[in-house]
Amino acid sequence: MDKQIMLLGDEALAQAAIDSGISGVYSYPGTPSTEITEYIMNSPEGKSGEVRTGWASNEKTALEAALGMSYAGKRALVCMKHVGLNVAADPFMNSAITGVKGGIVIVSADDPSMHSSQNEQDSRYYGNFAMIPIIEPSNQQEVYEMVRYGYDLSEQVGLPVLLRITTRLAHSRAGVVRKEKREQNELKIPPKDDRSFILLPAIAKRRYISQLEKQPELEKQARESGFNKLTIKDAKLGIITTGIAYNYLMENFPDRNIPHSVFKVVQYPIPVDDVMQLYAHSEEILVIEEGYPFIESSLRGMLNMGKKIKGRLDGTLPRIGELNPNVVAKALDMPDTRGADIPKLVAPRPPALCNGCPHVYSYEALNKALAQLPNSRVFADIGCYTLGALPPFNAINTTVDMGASITMAKGASEAGIHPAVAVIGDSTFTHSGVTGLIDCVRDNNNVTIMILDNETTAMTGGQDSAATGRIENICRGVGVDKDHIFVVNPIPREVDKISEILLKEFEYKGVSVIIPQRECIQTARKSAKQKKD
Ligand code: SF4
Repeated sequence: MDKQIMLLGDEALAQAAIDSGISGVYSYPGTPSTEITEYIMNSPEGKSGEVRTGWASNEKTALEAALGMSYAGKRALVCMKHVGLNVAADPFMNSAITGVKGGIVIVSADDPSMHSSQNEQDSRYYGNFAMIPIIEPSNQQEVYEMVRYGYDLSEQVGLPVLLRITTRLAHSRAGVVRKEKREQNELKIPPKDDRSFILLPAIAKRRYISQLEKQPELEKQARESGFNKLTIKDAKLGIITTGIAYNYLMENFPDRNIPHSVFKVVQYPIPVDDVMQLYAHSEEILVIEEGYPFIESSLRGMLNMGKKIKGRLDGTLPRIGELNPNVVAKALDMPDTRGADIPKLVAPRPPALCNGCPHVYSYEALNKALAQLPNSRVFADIGCYTLGALPPFNAINTTVDMGASITMAKGASEAGIHPAVAVIGDSTFTHSGVTGLIDCVRDNNNVTIMILDNETTAMTGGQDSAATGRIENICRGVGVDKDHIFVVNPIPREVDKISEILLKEFEYKGVSVIIPQRECIQTARKSAKQKKD
């Protein structure tokens, strides 16, 4: 099986997980990780049900379900974008204490430069925080190899493994050679008296000690697995690099002959001996890493040991945004390698709501209703409706994180803002908005909540939403008064009617929910085309 297939980084990861014998994938869509799960869903294994697929309500529920699968002895893949790891942080940290039975690889696809994200945090800090192995491949073939290795390592050390990729690697394509597909693990029901997954303080304390005791073993694995590579040369400069940044370095040396010493980090914890060897053989160190100055900060430490450490902290490389071969060339005092200027046609354009998007009419109605109410504020959420911040709507005042619209409107109403309006999407509502609604109902907050139901997770390409067709029932179920739930149709001729409902509900001293319900035109077009084909 040595035929190459052209795969995106995300697809190489997905194929590797299938070939590693996973029994399930658990995820919430988010750019740049979405394609991993979609690939598995569309694979023969996904379609036949041999591998369980499907979208979770959020990243926390995804990781918890994967833990359940691992508890039964089977391998699972968990995928999310970097901000999703914040949502999954609770089970993430605790899974490092419970450990795993069947291997778990947790993928965090980081988005430096914030192409479609609200921040550019670096997931390696989370892996380090949880004290679990981190693997960071630099090309598609390495992605494939590292996923297989990740499952072996996870089962060998009994810990989840964090696999970090970044946008360019996730979304670029290269030839990948597959290996033999492995069988899935047999179901292995743990003995009834196995208490490792019960994090009572007495048990957790013991597990934590054993987790600490595993750390030298994890460093040994990183040193001996052969993925980290140290090349010492008789040179002044020593380079430490990792992930896609290694590719950017190599692109500046087409003959692949780098005149400096190089330590390529693929597996963490970083072996200290290798770093010390590089340090001893170099007069100065340059750290090239995509994301935060994670390695560079730890090298500098509280007290620098004397030699110059260059990287993102001293301005040798830009502190924010994605790296590229040209900024790496400049850091190496090499000629400017930038190619031709980007044609205006592909210059970045601000995103905008699609023509005919149902949200347009929801915002028109909202703006109309709020026109005479200068003290009103609109708390919005993550997704296409965030685009309501742009002209001509200028309709929203906040967007912080998934689910924050309802809870922020709650706090603002308690502070005295009226009307306090929350705008959230259907998928985001089940992701983490519904718990905020439960709080509002309990406290009988004076809030008006618009749940823009386009029957999909539109911004990431139209994945299923856990709430499709059920929003009204969910709202009733958590206690919203049925007389203050309105399902409306966001089309031009209904704008005035929606606006009137909003004005009436602003007067009501309690929780009102307005549900403008119409399918996203992009997914509607896609399904119409599929039917035609
Ligand atoms: S993708 Fe769908 S929901 Fe998003 S802006 Fe376009 S039509 Fe609206």
